[in-house]
Amino acid sequence: MTYEYARDHEHELSAEFLYPSDADVLDIYESGESLMVDVAVICPECSDTLALTATVGSVTESTVDLPLDEEYYD
Ligand SMILES: [Zn+2]
Repeated sequence: MTYEYARDHEHELSAEFLYPSDADVLDIYESGESLMVDVAVICPECSDTLALTATVGSVTESTVDLPLDEEYYD
């Protein structure tokens, strides 16, 4: 599976090999009319650290407490 996004890294990312417990939020900021989130993940193929930039598509109430504990990822 391939996704459409701009990238300068040689490896294609797949959600199948990306784990929330290995990711961390780098920044949350505004860009124009959008709320943006930068997330750092480890490339499954070469273990380089990559920065993903995401546009917030929705904001809803959540029942989880922060910071997340390890059990959340089970
Ligand atoms: Zn890589």
